Amino acid sequence: MEPNTARIEALIRELLIEIGEDPGREGLQRTPHRVAAAWAFFTSGNRTDLDKLINGAIFTQKTNSMVIVKNIEVYSLCEHHMLPFFGRCHIGYIPNGRVFGVSKLARLVDMYARRLQLQERLTEQVSQAVMDSIDAKGVGVMIEAQHLCMMMRGVEKQNSVMVTSSVVGEFRESTATREEFLGLIGNRSG
Ligand SMILES: [Zn+2]
Repeated sequence: MEPNTARIEALIRELLIEIGEDPGREGLQRTPHRVAAAWAFFTSGNRTDLDKLINGAIFTQKTNSMVIVKNIEVYSLCEHHMLPFFGRCHIGYIPNGRVFGVSKLARLVDMYARRLQLQERLTEQVSQAVMDSIDAKGVGVMIEAQHLCMMMRGVEKQNSVMVTSSVVGEFRESTATREEFLGLIGNRSG
């Protein structure tokens, strides 16, 4: 169900008052409206259907070689502070007769990123979705991200990067496969 934007606007107006702002001043008059629209978008992954998203973007291909897509941009929101975390996602998989259209892998990451998240859960959801969608032999996902809840408040560690990985199937079973994956994504631009 789409969020009730009128209700979100009212809540944001209350929030502005509570933090000592005047929601009637010029710069803030349209802010509740903008925030409501932004949050509808930030959480649109909750209302996206995975099957519809990948529909028509899976192709038959006889290959057993590892497929790697590096540096997919990730923008998500930590569920503990409702603040952004952002970085890059690297996906590797070994097909089992079917491969993904490349842009769909990016859309799949967006779908799981556009909701309140934990980086660990996001990483696992992406690997499981890739595994299940094409019945892959194995999948590895690594996400490197910076969290504004750490950078702007609390410990204020501006340069720390959190790295999470999730491996399933052959990536979990075989050290050689995992090492091939890490080697192929290893030359990252950061
Ligand atoms: Zn946080």
